[in-house]
Amino acid sequence: GAEEHPPAIRVLDPATVNQIAAGEVIERPASVVKEMVENAIDAGARTIRIDITSVQGGITAIKVTDDGCGMSPVDAELAFVPHATSKIHTLDDLFSIHSLGFRGEALASIAAIAKVTLITKPQGSDRVPGTRIVVVGGEIQLRGGTGAPEGTSVLVEELFFNTPARKKFQKSLTTEIARIHGILEGLCLACPQISFKVFHNNREQLATERTGRPLDTIARIFGNESARELIPAAAALPFMRISGYISRPALSRKDHDRILIAINGRYISSPPVTTAIREGYGTLLPHGRYPVAFLSLEIDTRLVDINVHPTKKEVRLTKEKEITDGVREAVRAALASGDLIPEVNAPK
Ligand code: ADP
Ligand code: MG
Repeated sequence: GAEEHPPAIRVLDPATVNQIAAGEVIERPASVVKEMVENAIDAGARTIRIDITSVQGGITAIKVTDDGCGMSPVDAELAFVPHATSKIHTLDDLFSIHSLGFRGEALASIAAIAKVTLITKPQGSDRVPGTRIVVVGGEIQLRGGTGAPEGTSVLVEELFFNTPARKKFQKSLTTEIARIHGILEGLCLACPQISFKVFHNNREQLATERTGRPLDTIARIFGNESARELIPAAAALPFMRISGYISRPALSRKDHDRILIAINGRYISSPPVTTAIREGYGTLLPHGRYPVAFLSLEIDTRLVDINVHPTKKEVRLTKEKEITDGVREAVRAALASGDLIPEVNAPK
């Protein structure tokens, strides 16, 4: 019987491996948006367009188009291979990551559980045609030349077509769209040098301009009124620079706080830094009021381990105490400064 013979160990075939990996990286449509937009940012795009299509309560297509560096025909195919990345080369590079991606997993993962159409053409390649590749469930269905503008577009359809359990797990369209917007807020705020355009069923939802000023992006997303309520917070320490905006105590929120923290250009969730921000307000916040804060921390990359989670939503900080002390102090100093009374120059 089966009990007498231990089951044979087998190395899983690549398609199965990719599907397992995809389960970690791609939880929902918003994960696709995050990964594709991060790739566009890493590609040096100046303009990124996001198109969401939905019918009958479900998202049917996500398309991200950029005017970044593009890919050669060879790279366009390599991009779908698991652990293939142009962003790091050696183990050492892991300790000084300046790109949003580095694991080389996103495209392979998405292509394992969806239909992906990639169209790309490298910058400055006037006489070379673009490349079009279609991958369905990890299998290349089509590859060939095509006319294309410089840059890259990735169209993702039939997400979770071969993972019915994951598909069922998806929430309502409203919830999924809200999550996409949440992801995009962080990405837009982190990149005021990029113009973002977001469309849902061809209707424009959000457009940011590439002014380089985070406050302009805040005004676009949260409204001019909210932007005007904020005061700047900044500090420079030997291993960290803090910049951003926080709400005046009187103009805090009633329901829950809205604290967005970027570390080295990546919006992440960091309970210790969030706590430090709240502590910075001390007794200034009336009971039951919550702060709004957009803080960007530039920390020595050797002190930040972002290789903690497949989706990189958390980081591990060396010198956590010094970092949170610095944040708390920066918030306290901003609130104590004379800036509290005069208005802040919010964009028009
Ligand atoms: P990672 O971003 O971790 O490197 P991905 O699977 O997201 O892994 O992408 C694999 C590779 O494909 C990237 O390293 C990059 O070289 C290339 N790539 C992906 N998207 C784009 C894009 N929009 N523009 C240019 N190159 C891209
Ligand atoms: Mg990536």
